[in-house]
Amino acid sequence: MEDKARENGVAAMAACYQKFDPAAYLQYNYTPPRADFARKDSIVPWKLACLHRAFTEGDVSGDLLVDIGSGPTLYQVLSGCEVFNKVILTDFLEVNRQELRHWLQDEGGCSLDWTPYLQHVCKLEGRRYGNDKLCLKTGASAWTEKAAKLRQVIADILPIDVHCSQPLAPDALPSSGADCLVSCFCLESVSPDLAAFTRALGHIWKLLRPGGHLLLIGALGESYYFGGPGVRIPVVPLNEAQVCAGLKESGYTIIRLEVYTLPQDMRVGVDDVTGVFFAKARKD
Ligand code: SAM
Repeated sequence: MEDKARENGVAAMAACYQKFDPAAYLQYNYTPPRADFARKDSIVPWKLACLHRAFTEGDVSGDLLVDIGSGPTLYQVLSGCEVFNKVILTDFLEVNRQELRHWLQDEGGCSLDWTPYLQHVCKLEGRRYGNDKLCLKTGASAWTEKAAKLRQVIADILPIDVHCSQPLAPDALPSSGADCLVSCFCLESVSPDLAAFTRALGHIWKLLRPGGHLLLIGALGESYYFGGPGVRIPVVPLNEAQVCAGLKESGYTIIRLEVYTLPQDMRVGVDDVTGVFFAKARKD
């Protein structure tokens, strides 16, 4: 009976995602004011700064980085692509995997121009030459080099379901597991309740090698978001204590948890999120 209720909750969430619209989602969340690179208190620059710091502290390293629930976005791997030789992107929906393939194949048809994101992360990395100046050696700009690097290291874009005890196809990863997982706004926005969120944390734990890191970004206090016009998707409203408890219960050691509170003008009517958390954790 309990199993049936769980299955129904997960199936109801999957049904909500059938009308997810990648272009609208990108427009709602990845353009100003939420992605205003001139403002330090804008949400996207905050996330990029957290990821930059985490990937450059020296303890996160290895060969393979896996992004869990990539959606139609790339910002979450712009720092990691400089550290890992191989990056695997994943999503539940074919429309999102298709959006990512458009960018990867560089043949047009992308719903968002990632150039300002690439430029901003280059700036965080203090590239020798500025955004617009060319490298004397290669004639390329820093951001076009980063775009080329990202295209070179993305090894695959795979289907995933975090509600399965084995979220990826059995042979998708080496048997040792990934060296690092990154996951942004996925688990809380695909889970019917807190128990399912915590179980999903446990499922992705299995994809990670012992000693590997999880970089988790997510919404605080959010009960819904729009995945397109009229596509209202329920979210598990989380607080910091629940995030920490879920991580510990699932076998992670928390290294750091940071919190961002949304300024009033970032509350633009596409969700009811009040804050964002960034957690850096390790599987011991
Ligand atoms: N990571 C992106 C970001 O930072 O904006 C997208 C986050 S979006 C709120 C949630 C993503 O989870 C969507 O791309 C959706 O397709 C994906 N998703 C839905 N159900 C899922 C499931 N069962 N397992 C994994 N991902 C799922």
